[in-house]
Amino acid sequence: MITYEYIEQEYNKALEHAYGLIPARNWSSLPTSLVLTDSPRRLGIADERTGEVSINARYKNTTAYTSLRNTIFHELAHFCVGTHNNHNKVFKSVLSRFTAHFEVDSSELQQLIKQVDFKWFVVAHLENGQIHEIGGVHRKTKIYAEYPHYRPNAIHTIKGVKVLRYEYRQNR
Ligand SMILES: [Zn+2]
Repeated sequence: MITYEYIEQEYNKALEHAYGLIPARNWSSLPTSLVLTDSPRRLGIADERTGEVSINARYKNTTAYTSLRNTIFHELAHFCVGTHNNHNKVFKSVLSRFTAHFEVDSSELQQLIKQVDFKWFVVAHLENGQIHEIGGVHRKTKIYAEYPHYRPNAIHTIKGVKVLRYEYRQNR
């Protein structure tokens, strides 16, 4: 089970790993502290102004270890590239360097979905007939809702298998 001490320990490990890949001097700004948030909507928050990395307290008492690690790296990537880059290509390339080998297990997502008040749950239907759980979202975005017509040239793949369509399932 995840405890505060575990979150702190993972945060420190993640920070060390991230600085190993991209030296601190090259970061847009540096995170200075770890706090827990009771935000009903977000798994993590990067606040460049205060230097705080906020992690959702709902991780406690779950076994969503990989998701926690991904959330920590996600927030660290925001500090690294600067929040002005939002979730653009620059952000994504740094995040994928940080988290190259992690794959969040769907049972972890299920635990978090129950905890965080997501309106929708997105699943991808793959060409090979499999269904891949993407995760919870608060509102519909064109990227999924209008796929593959939104950007006809950007066909998504998951582990090398083409995504045919996405489906929004009402979470509650
Ligand atoms: Zn983000």
